[in-house]
Amino acid sequence: MSLTLYNTLTRKKETFTPVHPPLVGLYLCGPTVYNDAHLGNARGPIVFDVLTRYLRYLGYQVRYVRNITDVGHLVGDSDEGEDKMAKTARAQKLEPMQVAQHYTVRYRQAMSALGCLPPDIEPQASGHITEQIGLISEILDRGLAYEVNGSVYFDVPKYNAEGLNYGRLSGRVVEELLANTRAELAGQDEKRSPADFALWKKAAPEHLMRWPSPWGEGFPGWHLECSAMSRKYLGAEFDIHGGGLDLMFPHHECEIAQNEASGTPSTGARFWLHNNMLTVNGQKMSKSLGNFVTLNEMFQGQSAALSQAYSPMTLRFFFLQAQYRSPIDLSDEALQAARKGFRKLMNGLRLLDSGKLEARSGEPAVDADKLAANSQQLLALSKKPFEFLSDDLNTPRAVAAVFDLLKRFNSLAASPAALAEVSPEAVAEASAAYRAVVSDVLGLRDEPRASAEDLLALALGFYQEAKSEKAYDKVDQIRTALKSQGIVIKDTKTGVEWAYSED
Ligand SMILES: [Zn+2]
Repeated sequence: MSLTLYNTLTRKKETFTPVHPPLVGLYLCGPTVYNDAHLGNARGPIVFDVLTRYLRYLGYQVRYVRNITDVGHLVGDSDEGEDKMAKTARAQKLEPMQVAQHYTVRYRQAMSALGCLPPDIEPQASGHITEQIGLISEILDRGLAYEVNGSVYFDVPKYNAEGLNYGRLSGRVVEELLANTRAELAGQDEKRSPADFALWKKAAPEHLMRWPSPWGEGFPGWHLECSAMSRKYLGAEFDIHGGGLDLMFPHHECEIAQNEASGTPSTGARFWLHNNMLTVNGQKMSKSLGNFVTLNEMFQGQSAALSQAYSPMTLRFFFLQAQYRSPIDLSDEALQAARKGFRKLMNGLRLLDSGKLEARSGEPAVDADKLAANSQQLLALSKKPFEFLSDDLNTPRAVAAVFDLLKRFNSLAASPAALAEVSPEAVAEASAAYRAVVSDVLGLRDEPRASAEDLLALALGFYQEAKSEKAYDKVDQIRTALKSQGIVIKDTKTGVEWAYSED
């Protein structure tokens, strides 16, 4: 069962084979750390976490790189305007690196809550200025960039004149781009063509983030870091580059152009994968529509767009219910359905842990053919989720197949006679498959639902009741149970209190 993935570069599903098996290099464009991540920002990391986990499940040795953009990403996503980091820093009277650190820490916390494994390498753009300057020099040496007044621009028309194709990823045509961008780029006279993009920008005197370079003090263009860092950590030709559909143009298009224009020409990744976008209540998320929700706002129930808090695992499961190339719409109803589905899968894990599916001795002998047929059928059910995962990571169909398997488990657990008609080996193999898909590949894990405070209050209530009924056995039992949890009960004149045991 080979893995197929949809490659945006070739516009078709292709069988995945790594450049250097069993190694797989995967690069995902990470966050620009100037504000808190919103719900839409979580989709890419979850999708590519599942892909990384699945590749590892298949036996590949994955090096997963997800960068941190802390310089070069300008307001408006083009080559003009203030740096996003610097803008926040100025507004909050902080050092830009303070802003970066603050939001990087919060981002990592949110990703960990969402069950996303940390990347193997998490390079920061500001830590790779040398590599970025090196790449610019390579492109200048090839004659595919030019310097103007301390800035360096990529020469798109010249790149195309050499038979390379700027636009091959996004399907955009340079002439079209020129027609659309001429007006908005008026005033950018340094560029020979409006389609050109900045590799290095000269820093204005008030610009906070600046580094020395052969062209004077300045800062790198936003697209450059991902080329420089993916090449450094994964090589000039590597396996998979991921990101949201909104990054396909211009960001990824420019990355490919930079890679092709370097001293070791290549598209960079062989496979370019793009996850689709999230809408909230049928609309694109935006601050003006009041449906802009950050991850923390959702987890804490602080968003006006949603009626209540939803847990990180609910959000993770919600995203897995759509194939990553399809758009997905978030709403209270959708999240409530996701929560239900997620809990059902967790109950499945609890069923497997309960031992109810273990063979019982002393069951009547079963017809051998029947046993073989039933076992075969169970094993076939347990293989289905993997077939769907291998088909361009079709998580919704994989989840549906896991539910089918769970349904079978539930009926086996309910009937000793039915359980006796399946071989214990088949049950064990199917159980292992369930755990592998749910926990290892989809990355779903149980979340504490009950509050420890509420449970403690409940226990103290039972204690008081037992005391007033003079049921001293029960009183002792509750005392001992709580003591084992590090809690001591104190009887006071006004009632019952608790304290941490100091033993
Ligand atoms: Zn990137």
